[in-house]
Amino acid sequence: MSLTSTPTDEQIKRVPKALLHDHLDGGLRPQTIIELSQKIGYKKLPTEDPEKLAIWFEEACNSHSLVRYLETFAHTVAVMQTKEAIIQVARECAIDLARDGVVYAEVRGAPELFTEQGLTFDQIIEATTEGYKQGVAEAAKEGKKIRVESYFVDLGKMINHSRQQNLLLNIEIKA
Ligand SMILES: [Zn+2]
Repeated sequence: MSLTSTPTDEQIKRVPKALLHDHLDGGLRPQTIIELSQKIGYKKLPTEDPEKLAIWFEEACNSHSLVRYLETFAHTVAVMQTKEAIIQVARECAIDLARDGVVYAEVRGAPELFTEQGLTFDQIIEATTEGYKQGVAEAAKEGKKIRVESYFVDLGKMINHSRQQNLLLNIEIKA
């Protein structure tokens, strides 16, 4: 890759990257959303076809409508109310980022969002950390090294995204 040519998607993928701001509940695989919703009997998804669901999410996110944008999180948060679901989402998050060439990621999540079915903050933090650990280990097996900084944030202060002001806890996960 020279400086004068535009890199291809494949080249961009291979370049090591640092991701400084991501949300755990904002990056689920469409297939996983569908699987988890079927497991818990969640009926509010706009479609149960993974490809159509991916398009729906993309359109909602690019719609410039806050209502539509927030609707995407209503679905992802709804299917992340059990330990198993949180572990799966965090594991896939780490793997998918690593496959995209991310070597360092700061991923945040507000534990308060995942307490609808009675999970405690401790259980949520434990499940999230376990999921990242599994994902980081799995990525390492594929020869992709990633370090995840897991940020647990205060939902009430979510609107303020500066690191110090809404941080509850920070855990580092690496292979
Ligand atoms: Zn954010």
